[in-house]
Amino acid sequence: MSDGDLQMRSATSVAATDEPAIVFDRVGVSYGRGRKAAVALADFTLRVAVGETVALLGPSGSGKSTALKALAGFVRPTTGSVRLAGRDVTYLSPAKRGIGVVVQSYALFPHMTVHSNVAFGLKSHRVPRAEISARVAEALDMVGMGSYAQRLPRELSGGQQQRVAIARALAIKPSVLLLDEPLAALDAQLRHSMLGELQALRKALPDTAMLYVTHDQAEALALADRIAVMRESRLVDIDTAENLWQRPPTDFTAGFLGGANLVPCTVNHVTGTAALVTAGTSTLRVRAPQPAVGPADWAPGDDALLCIRPHTITVGKPGERDALRATVSASVWRGATTRVELAVDGLPGELAADVPGHFTTEVSAVVGVKLPDPAGVLIPRTIGETVAVAGHSVRPEIGS
Ligand code: ADP
Ligand code: MG
Repeated sequence: MSDGDLQMRSATSVAATDEPAIVFDRVGVSYGRGRKAAVALADFTLRVAVGETVALLGPSGSGKSTALKALAGFVRPTTGSVRLAGRDVTYLSPAKRGIGVVVQSYALFPHMTVHSNVAFGLKSHRVPRAEISARVAEALDMVGMGSYAQRLPRELSGGQQQRVAIARALAIKPSVLLLDEPLAALDAQLRHSMLGELQALRKALPDTAMLYVTHDQAEALALADRIAVMRESRLVDIDTAENLWQRPPTDFTAGFLGGANLVPCTVNHVTGTAALVTAGTSTLRVRAPQPAVGPADWAPGDDALLCIRPHTITVGKPGERDALRATVSASVWRGATTRVELAVDGLPGELAADVPGHFTTEVSAVVGVKLPDPAGVLIPRTIGETVAVAGHSVRPEIGS
């Protein structure tokens, strides 16, 4: 037996005993009964490794909170099971799961001091009295709230209350921490600084698995090792943020993570991971990585969607070299950038471009548009039913 064989063996034996911190195994959740039953989570399978942070990202109503509640024990799965460190907890009471949970609304007891709020969870976890004060102090210090122990929640700002809620979740030293839109109730500036604090917290807790629910792509990108994209009760895509951004597997993820122009096109010619496509009457060079879902690989004649990121398009004067002639149909200043909607000669539908600064051009003005080279990345057309039917459309950038 060679060294290589030995290494293979030990790797497999570790994998067999080293259970993921969190497992959702084909979990389904329905609210209501009989004819009124509504599916909130369907066939949801996800594994989170020890120390890993996974963001559940999706629009409102896509089932993110339901997934989190199924794991915490606040709702009971209709089908499937949830496991923590290999142990099936599907029917265990929430308190016995030993999970830290932080929700959007802080949920502090208004009549109790910060100290008592954090101590509350420890008492219900039967931590010896003598240990409680030290554990409370340690948890409050982790979130920078050590000197606020005797305050009442109403004497704190929203951000401070959320820090206390996080301290309360951490005090029980959970191996699994669930956060459900913890920054959603805070104003934009505070959200930004809290995001930095959550990053620091994540580093300080290298063995804690985190499931972070958000509808904000910026939070998911900043915090998560992997992002699980949800849509209509289902998991659509899961991968590292980098992969989902660089080569989105589906049109939905392309639009939700970063915003995208999705232009219907036909593949002409493929060389490795590059291709030439026809979109409208234009021929474009594009990236064509092997699809994660759908066809095994790209071939001439395939129908596809070309994902062009709005920030990669430049808008200038008509007649410039390599510029396509286009007509401005709308223009909205957003501060750092202006979103310009364009009807481009030779391309189907409209394109959205995000140009730097305050771009002042009249609607129906003629401009020159330059696409990047390669123009974008190919996405299978068969996956996203809605877009394939409706022609191409720009998905809203959520959270911007
Ligand atoms: P998200 O957190 O992604 O916004 P939720 O998991 O809260 O979504 O909700 C998923 C779906 O389940 C939605 O259609 C929502 O209206 C429904 N839902 C959530 N909670 C309940 C409930 N307690 N009773 C009935 N329907 C619910
Ligand atoms: Mg929710």
